[in-house]
Amino acid sequence: MNTTYKQYRKCGPTKEKAEQLLETETFERIPVSLYRYVRIAHPENMRERLFHGWQHLGCLGRVYLANEGINAQMSVPEHNMNAFRDFMDSFDEFNGVPFKIGIEGGKAFSTLHIKIKKQIVADGLSIDDYNIENVGKHLSAREFNDAMESRDTIVVDMRNHYESEIGHFDGALCPEVDTFREELPKVALELKGKEDKKVLLYCTGGIRCEKASAYLKHQGFTDVNQLHGGIIDYKHQVEREGLENKFLGANYVFDGRGRESIGNEIISQCHQCGNSCDRHVNCQNLACNLLFLQCEQCEQHMRGTCSSACKRIIHMPLEKQKEYYKKHGAMTHEKFSKSLKARKRLGKKSPFQKIMRVFVK
Ligand SMILES: [Zn+2]
Ligand SMILES: [Zn+2]
Repeated sequence: MNTTYKQYRKCGPTKEKAEQLLETETFERIPVSLYRYVRIAHPENMRERLFHGWQHLGCLGRVYLANEGINAQMSVPEHNMNAFRDFMDSFDEFNGVPFKIGIEGGKAFSTLHIKIKKQIVADGLSIDDYNIENVGKHLSAREFNDAMESRDTIVVDMRNHYESEIGHFDGALCPEVDTFREELPKVALELKGKEDKKVLLYCTGGIRCEKASAYLKHQGFTDVNQLHGGIIDYKHQVEREGLENKFLGANYVFDGRGRESIGNEIISQCHQCGNSCDRHVNCQNLACNLLFLQCEQCEQHMRGTCSSACKRIIHMPLEKQKEYYKKHGAMTHEKFSKSLKARKRLGKKSPFQKIMRVFVK
């Protein structure tokens, strides 16, 4: 079992095979996410060391390694959770790194992907835009709830538009952006003149707030706070301590499941008919691949596409489709198109145009 990571990626099981294997497993998997900003001098070497340990423990997932740290979404066999903890603690870099345990869906990953990146979160900032040693104050769920009570507090959702549309904190500012990179300057601009106010930031697991809070402090904001452990851990704390849940709707997750319910309500609507819906799908026309909200009825009716134009494409004979994709390209579901602009166009093309106007401003 001494394959290197590269051999594994090259010669390991195909995705289909891996999915079959996963189906036959007789044990549970625990969804674990973790991140840490920490100096990793040689990410390539680190990848080999992590890969060997993780493969041995049967871990799957998607992991980013960079000189600035680690960001991992994984699934760990339940019976190996203690060994996984010990393994991570055996590295100086990751000793004691907090695990965020997901609520459902341990089977979200079928392979182990460890990518070397420039940054563990793409933020477009240069090293002079922030000081990662000077981040916002970390608040527990209880402290976050209490701070939200005050009228003067500004709550900001540091995630993208397609994430916050299906769930967010009551009264939060949810910027209309496609990427974190766009969001940082936009938030700073929107909060201009409010540098002395209490600012509460939150994101999925806390990683984006580390950067965002350092950035806002660098921009002159004095009272910057962040939800420790993000929405994932908020849910656990609320349950454990019997706190009031102030998060409405669902938490968008990146591991193929789409969402994890936090509040009991559905706060978003199907982009095509307007019925209550928090289900993201990718348009079945692979050249479009738009990420949007579609209810099950519309999925049937539209064959999983975003528009009549895309529906026509998937109804073409296979040969014609191949030709079409050759010309227009086909995206994978990892690189979906999530442009707000495209989504607004979707509203105009749709036969349900009138209803759409309500949602597409
Ligand atoms: Zn619908
Ligand atoms: Zn489409």
